Amino acid sequence: MRRTLSILGSSGSIGQQTLKVAQACGHAVAAITVNRSVELAEAQARQFRPRLAVAVDENAAAELRVRLADTDTRVLSGPEGLLEAAGLPEADTVVTAIVGVAGLRPTLAAIDAGKRIALANKETLVCAGELVMARAEEKGAEIVPVDSEHSAIFQCLQGCKNRGEVRRLILTASGGPFFGRSREELAQVTRAQALRHPNWAMGAKITIDSATLMNKGLELIEAMRLYSMPPEKIQIVVHRESIVHSLVEFEDGAILAQLGSADMCLPIQYALTWPERTPGPAKPLDLLSCPPLTFQRPDPETFRCLGLALECAQRGGTSTAVLSGANEAAVELFLQEKITFLDIPRLVEGALGRVSALDRPGLDEILSADRAAREAVYDSVR
Ligand code: MG
Repeated sequence: MRRTLSILGSSGSIGQQTLKVAQACGHAVAAITVNRSVELAEAQARQFRPRLAVAVDENAAAELRVRLADTDTRVLSGPEGLLEAAGLPEADTVVTAIVGVAGLRPTLAAIDAGKRIALANKETLVCAGELVMARAEEKGAEIVPVDSEHSAIFQCLQGCKNRGEVRRLILTASGGPFFGRSREELAQVTRAQALRHPNWAMGAKITIDSATLMNKGLELIEAMRLYSMPPEKIQIVVHRESIVHSLVEFEDGAILAQLGSADMCLPIQYALTWPERTPGPAKPLDLLSCPPLTFQRPDPETFRCLGLALECAQRGGTSTAVLSGANEAAVELFLQEKITFLDIPRLVEGALGRVSALDRPGLDEILSADRAAREAVYDSVR
């Protein structure tokens, strides 16, 4: 099964691993997009010869245009460039690997164009999951998750003809670099320590989200939307070894799990080839050299971001967009070393208190809740 890909966010961790999968498995690349990583975009364009390359930043696009002048790759800029890449007629599959709410409009554009969505942008479903899933159903667009936990659940659900047979979903969490620490200890952690994930090599934003456990909270909301499950039917267990990527428990008590090495190439590849499986570059798992597998309870009081996400999962409406927007802004400030690690949940909680939540929001209401949440965070550190 050969696919033709449009990769939104090709310079990021998922984007680069998607290109690795494309190269190993012979998928074609029709479009790549970056924010401003001109050098990498040029190298990717020369290797994969896409029809379209987008740099969202105007200056970066101008430079990329000069660098690629001797090739057949057209260069576009701005959010319109992203939308063009999302709906490109040559592509049958759009990999949405842009971080944050910036991925929402391009994902909707790809759905409207009837593409398969290899979904690697969790904020899209956290902010606008009901709207996005309804639109995908209406347009007949397939959404296949790339997030390792959701891919694991998706794989365990293959062959399940009646979703009513699912008793609950079990999301595994690595626990991040600070699992087991007290709030006093968390008050001292630095940016460099938070960026050192024990098992996974990922982008900066998601690595910080893993350290605060916000990532698992966002993933619970993502799972609710993908699989139409209420939050009380989704359990989070800490699994330090990151070998069991998630599980599904059925009504008869059977639990199916998907295991593998901590290598995103497998979920990326499965999102492209589903329902088929093909050989690929993912590192195989050797059961005989695995450490013992352990499962523990998470602590949403110490890791307050997880507690806040669980509250928003219950509340619904725009509260999940406020959660996500405030968290994006707070993580950005933490990465700039303007706030401390424990300021992240404090600022997110502040934003949740200040921005009023709406039920059944449309796209504009979701985007304005996101903006208001960011403003609330920036305001409180001014
Ligand atoms: Mg994940």
